[in-house]
Amino acid sequence: MKKDLKEFKTFPNSTIKEIQRAANEGIYQIRGLGAKRKVPDFDDLVFLGASMSRYPLEGYRETCNTSVVLGDRFAKKPIKLDIPITIAGMSFGALGANAKEALGRGASEMGTSTTTGDGGMTQEERGSSKYLVYQLLPSRYGMNPDDLRKADAIEVVVGQGAKPGGGGMLLGQKINKRVAGMRTLPEGIDQRSACRHPDWTGPDDLEIKIQELREITNWEKPIYIKVGAARPYYDTTLAVKAGADVVVLDGMQGGTAATQDVFIEHVGIPTLGALREAVDALKELNMHRKVQLIVSGGIRTGADVAKAMAMGADAVSIGSAAMMALNCNADLYVEDYKKLGTEPGYCHHCHTGRCPVGVATQDPKLEKRLNPIEAGKRIKNYLTTLTLELQTLARANGKSDVRNLEPEDLAALTVEAAAMARVPLAGTDWVPGKK
Ligand code: SF4
Repeated sequence: MKKDLKEFKTFPNSTIKEIQRAANEGIYQIRGLGAKRKVPDFDDLVFLGASMSRYPLEGYRETCNTSVVLGDRFAKKPIKLDIPITIAGMSFGALGANAKEALGRGASEMGTSTTTGDGGMTQEERGSSKYLVYQLLPSRYGMNPDDLRKADAIEVVVGQGAKPGGGGMLLGQKINKRVAGMRTLPEGIDQRSACRHPDWTGPDDLEIKIQELREITNWEKPIYIKVGAARPYYDTTLAVKAGADVVVLDGMQGGTAATQDVFIEHVGIPTLGALREAVDALKELNMHRKVQLIVSGGIRTGADVAKAMAMGADAVSIGSAAMMALNCNADLYVEDYKKLGTEPGYCHHCHTGRCPVGVATQDPKLEKRLNPIEAGKRIKNYLTTLTLELQTLARANGKSDVRNLEPEDLAALTVEAAAMARVPLAGTDWVPGKK
């Protein structure tokens, strides 16, 4: 008899399996990294390049500046980065100390910053990072006013792209003695961080909190406010009102160490649409380029960096991609991926603490698989490649500074991307939704 294998559109096999898993276990799935679903992204945009009406720059002879100053609105000591690509906040606890050190080493060699995360600042990270941004999170785990003063900038984390409206999670298997000590919490017990700050409930309180942070740090450190991509137009407006020097906007493709899968896939909006809304808000306030905008969430290549900058970002931040440069999902220790029920290229098991390549683990044997010096070189190589790609695209569009890239250099390949990024659909002058 002929087989009839027509899949249900409403109930594809993956959905049937998930329903049955839920029926067996009675609890949601927790996992790491970012959204796996396809959403409109920077791949849906192209650069027009120069030809008769635009004059390109010569790649091997004419310079193209990549430096950026972050935090010169109020801070006495803004940060000057050599490249507009920073390393996003990832906690010690979620990542091992070797991974944190490697990120610091690679970023420092390229003259850019790295960022702490929930759970505080480690000596390895401070020691290896030329510019270190200290995150102030709702949990306050590991928060230490002395560390605020040791940092080069402070990032008040309101939300994260993978889970706007949600707090952090660190499962017990990753909470060893050192991680527990830094967080003053028990070893081996799951930790769930708060989803909102305990000492302020809105932008007016936040303004007071920021004043407090400035006083603690003698008005030297730039203050960033990080938001997940929920309502970026209003959130950016409120962050500027609260006194931010820099707004960090994390789109839904941004990663996490651990949270509910339903959160990762179903909350927040794609980086592409979020970025355009944030830039609109800054322009309407006449604060574009005065309050710098860092965008993150799914940045992978120099093309992504260049497109984000053309849309109006001052810099980008990379998290998941930096982990991949450290060998996350690399084709190594395949047997250990199998024990987790996965394969290289599909792994999202950071929450388990059994990271096959030693990036997201506190297990001493696994952590040894990541040599911080070698891995630091990989980060440097990766950042170098992104920067060269960024400069190549800027020169091809006739720009001697990557921050001169502009929306006029872009076209969209899909109606969705044209509407979100508000650039014309390729081959037309049509921008959906433009009045
Ligand atoms: S390889 Fe390690 S860091 Fe990468 S997703 Fe798997 S567990 Fe996480």
